[in-house]
Amino acid sequence: MVGNLILSSSLKRHGRLTRQNQAEIYLKVDQLVGFLCNLTTPQKRRHVENSVANVKKTNKGKMDQNRMAPCLQLPLDNKLLENVIEKAKDWALMHGACMRSRTNLNKDVLQFAPFVLLPSTFPRREFKKAVEIQPILNELVHKVAHDYEFLSSSLKSTNTVDHFTRRLFEIYETVRKDGITQPTSLGLLRSDYLLNCDSGTIKQVEINTVASSFGGISTHLGHYHRYVLQELGRMDMIQNLPENHALQGLCQGMLEAWKLYNNEKAVIMFVVEDVTYNICDQRFHEFELRSQNPNVPVIRRNLTQISERAKLGSKKELILDDMEVGVIYFRAGYEPGHYHSENEWNARLLMERSRAIKCPSIYYHLAGTKKVQQALAKPGVLEKFLSPDKTSVVKEIFTGLYSLDKDEFGDRAVQMAIENPGHFVLKPQREGGGNNVYGDKVRTAVEAMKDSEERSAWILMERISPPMQLNYLVRPGDPNNGCPPLSDVVGELGIFGVVIGDSEKILVNKQVGHMLRTKLSTADEGGVAAGLGALDSPYLCKSTNKIMLLDPSLQPDRWRSPGREARVASGGPGETLVGIDLCQPN
Ligand code: ADP
Ligand code: MG
Repeated sequence: MVGNLILSSSLKRHGRLTRQNQAEIYLKVDQLVGFLCNLTTPQKRRHVENSVANVKKTNKGKMDQNRMAPCLQLPLDNKLLENVIEKAKDWALMHGACMRSRTNLNKDVLQFAPFVLLPSTFPRREFKKAVEIQPILNELVHKVAHDYEFLSSSLKSTNTVDHFTRRLFEIYETVRKDGITQPTSLGLLRSDYLLNCDSGTIKQVEINTVASSFGGISTHLGHYHRYVLQELGRMDMIQNLPENHALQGLCQGMLEAWKLYNNEKAVIMFVVEDVTYNICDQRFHEFELRSQNPNVPVIRRNLTQISERAKLGSKKELILDDMEVGVIYFRAGYEPGHYHSENEWNARLLMERSRAIKCPSIYYHLAGTKKVQQALAKPGVLEKFLSPDKTSVVKEIFTGLYSLDKDEFGDRAVQMAIENPGHFVLKPQREGGGNNVYGDKVRTAVEAMKDSEERSAWILMERISPPMQLNYLVRPGDPNNGCPPLSDVVGELGIFGVVIGDSEKILVNKQVGHMLRTKLSTADEGGVAAGLGALDSPYLCKSTNKIMLLDPSLQPDRWRSPGREARVASGGPGETLVGIDLCQPN
């Protein structure tokens, strides 16, 4: 009925995993089933079988992807699972790990945001690296944002074909010509990473300079996973959940900018969408600001309201409903759909012309485009902005990024995409998820645009292949009677940074916290707000290199040597699946 048990195992060499030192060991699944029988009651075994079937289903075509062990032995006993999930859902509802429903919007009602029951394992060394590199990335973004020549040359080809980016750039040109009224910018950044199976190291997906979200909810998620581990009787594991003060740090950044604005009566304005689904995350920021400084009023307005009610004062203060706005925090304005007409564009320009400190200023916004990310990956470019030691650290986290401009380099990238579409992601200049192209569609899209100028609006990025691990995905309205099956998931880490400064100097430069969101391994994208991903938090373990080399002659119960507890940890596609893996918390 089933084929082979696959154990993916690897040797640690010079702190790195390579394909060469990975050994795939095949054992008869009968052995595995026997092993499971020893481990479990008939009920547990049924649950294992169901879980395995689910993993098989969701795992087609991902056979050779590496795996990380989950933080706990899985699956959990059904009764325990039901009980913990019920508590976990209520915890999420009562602590605001929630969103508004997209399918059945009622502003008076919240539902919990999708989350994973257990914290996902993440190698401590790579987590630390991501945290430590953030101030360097803050500095990089800040310098890039203030380099007009670089921004304009990087975006030149894109601006000719991408209407939206061009309009943003035109605002930049306009305020530059007028003279920048407010030289100080506030950057609340989030750099996103996937672990790369080949190297066992993090690779940057992108850096967000506008509306970097989930700092609020993620700060609470660590507490949620503390609670769940405690309910599962694993207090000992809590030490591996890193502290997260993203919300406090981001809000402190806003208040520092507000202080620099230097008017006690000024308000902080959130620029929001017409309907905010991710309301808890935003309100957490608002409430935290009020709690850190009760004297600073916070208002929320969409672009249409700003276009109708805002004006500039005699010193270019932004006046709105008789209030002076000191800091503008954009949680909207990053996609064309937010600008219904010229009115909303006028509002954006008005804000940019004003004395208010913008998060982000228009040039910070442009510095976060994918085209700029690609331009930074060209040989010799990082060196212009960073010292040699910082440059080499940043290069480590970059992965292949290619221009599709109509030149010889672009032609080469077109060819690569057509030959190997699965190795790349095709990205336009958009934020917010759901815009990229994956798999065979990369070839179709590139072939369709290869002779047109339109291709300059896109970049090609090497596809990062992250390790999978098992977890329970808990979603509102799940039909599985409160007992979701085990799923294969992959996580994406985000690190938050705060940077404040002007073209001359950087006044504040900090790393402030993190987020982890997790998606099914079969999904291309995992945006939580877009409904594709689930909230998560990292459970720090030794490293991806922990997987030990198993001797095929070993019997299953020998794997459970002291301190090396065997865990049912992986599933697989095709004819068979299921593996055993190890997790060594550290
Ligand atoms: P957006 O601005 O829409 O968030 P991203 O570049 O972050 O655009 O891509 C959206 C999602 O697509 C990411 O969160 C990630 O899940 C997936 N993704 C993006 N780039 C890659 C890549 N190079 N390899 C694998 N997955 C990727
Ligand atoms: Mg993204």
